[in-house]
Amino acid sequence: MSPELSIILLTMALRVVETVGKTTGAIASLKARLRRVEFATPYSIVCGGLLVACVMVGLCAMVLYQSRQDALERASGTSRNVALIAERDIERNFELYALSLQAVVDGLNQADVMALPPHLRHQVLFDRAATAKDLGSILVLDASGNIVIDSGSDIPRKGNFSDRKYFTIQRDNPNVGLYVSDPYQSRLRNSSPSIALSRRLSHPDGSFAGIVLLSVNLEYFRLLLAGLSLGPHGAVSLIGRDGIMIMRQPYDPRTPGRDISKASTFRRFVSAAEGSFSDTASIDGVRRLYFFRNFPDLPLIIMVAEAEQDIYAAWRRRALTMGTLMVGFGMAFVGVSFLFGAQLRRRMRAESELQLLARTDGLTGLHNRRTLGEILDQEWRRARRTRSVFSLLFVDIDRFKAYNDTYGHQAGDDALAAVARCIGENIRRPVDSAARYGGEEFVVVLPDTPPAGASLIAERIRSAISDLAIEHAGSEYGRVTASIGAASWTPERDDDVTAMIKAADEALYNAKATGRNKVAPVPGMTDMLSRMRHAGIIPRKHGQDRRAP
Ligand code: GH3
Ligand code: MG
Ligand code: MG
Repeated sequence: MSPELSIILLTMALRVVETVGKTTGAIASLKARLRRVEFATPYSIVCGGLLVACVMVGLCAMVLYQSRQDALERASGTSRNVALIAERDIERNFELYALSLQAVVDGLNQADVMALPPHLRHQVLFDRAATAKDLGSILVLDASGNIVIDSGSDIPRKGNFSDRKYFTIQRDNPNVGLYVSDPYQSRLRNSSPSIALSRRLSHPDGSFAGIVLLSVNLEYFRLLLAGLSLGPHGAVSLIGRDGIMIMRQPYDPRTPGRDISKASTFRRFVSAAEGSFSDTASIDGVRRLYFFRNFPDLPLIIMVAEAEQDIYAAWRRRALTMGTLMVGFGMAFVGVSFLFGAQLRRRMRAESELQLLARTDGLTGLHNRRTLGEILDQEWRRARRTRSVFSLLFVDIDRFKAYNDTYGHQAGDDALAAVARCIGENIRRPVDSAARYGGEEFVVVLPDTPPAGASLIAERIRSAISDLAIEHAGSEYGRVTASIGAASWTPERDDDVTAMIKAADEALYNAKATGRNKVAPVPGMTDMLSRMRHAGIIPRKHGQDRRAP
């Protein structure tokens, strides 16, 4: 391998290591940041609980909706099957009836059949089908409507049916073919409700010669439809295409012959060969899912309708149980979330109160010594970073031992608290802070404050304490006063904050030594102030010599 190639490969490897290192660092810092983010806040817990409950209830609603649709589809399928079964049964029977009628028509056209003695002719014309259950009788009527041949007896019964529609239709329309009548009350069979199938008989010249008719007892339809199970409120109907009801289950003796051609449901039955829809029945006002089918070869319509209350009965019971459980569970979940959130809120409040207590001085309400250490450390580093002036005041109550001795310890405590309040009220910037250093000594931290500003604030505090006018017989001023040592510093890299505290303490000592109730800057501060003015860190006084030391 050439040296150039080795260098290139090495460089690439180093880049990869560097990139991986950076990525790992980024991931680590992201993790650390995430760790600091508070996920478990009372608000997030309650919101989370609400969200989970909503999702649960939503999912449950979706499942219930789907099972409702399934119930509807199942009912639709069942209705269709029931309709098909009934239709096939009726069609097969009507086919046999039509064949029987045709056999009579054919027999009547054969002269030798007609020449047979009545009982033999009877046997040839009417096969065994004519004796089937629910079949009325097969009759041959002449052109005047009188019975001429009767399947019921060799000697025809007396009767004229020229007024019946199954007669007049065939008489007036040569091309009707097989006619299925509307229901009527049979005159030969004690008014039992029947329908008739009729065929026209014609002379060789085509003129009307009479009809052959076969009557079917409606009992056949009633029993057929009664055997179909469609729930407690279901209905099955056989309807003529002209809108006349032939049979309906549940059965009502008034139903056969009823005209429903004006009903909205019927209009839909004739609009298509088959179909399904939901509507309210005109007969009983029950809302049902309808399936209808027009018989392909007969003027009949079969309608199967399951009541919606039956279709959804099982679903409704399940939905009620599941819904109640889900809503109950969801509410319990939200309730627990609220409780948990409230518990957490109480805990967090207690923790923050504890934290505050740990950081505060009990008597004065100012920061305690421990917090002061943290503030000093933080502000000192900030001042070093931003190269700003950092000031510190050391406040000490004058002759406080004497005050305690004169007025008692409790009065001393009250005076201490009043002085502390006074200090707190006289520092206004948010970054400024005051702490109890110990005993009757206080420290005021003034970040980014030049000596002039620090002296100003110190003076304000001093005079405010004096203005409290707390009687102090043991003081040369007759009232509670305080002495303040002020120090200002622009920290360099190696400077230590303890040196500054010491300097402020020394300034305080000077204030005490020179009569108390005074503000004293660090010895040499005047020189330092001049140097700072000279360097432009603090504004110059009017007319001051730039080069003065
Ligand atoms: P100087 O003017 O030189 O500061 O005199 P001084 O008496 O104030 O100073 P010294 O340090 O001798 O006395 C401080 C007194 O402050 C001692 C103590 O009686 C009183 N003191 C310190 N802490 C408390 C406190 O928490 N409550 C009360 N009531 N008095 C306190
Ligand atoms: Mg003291
Ligand atoms: Mg003192």
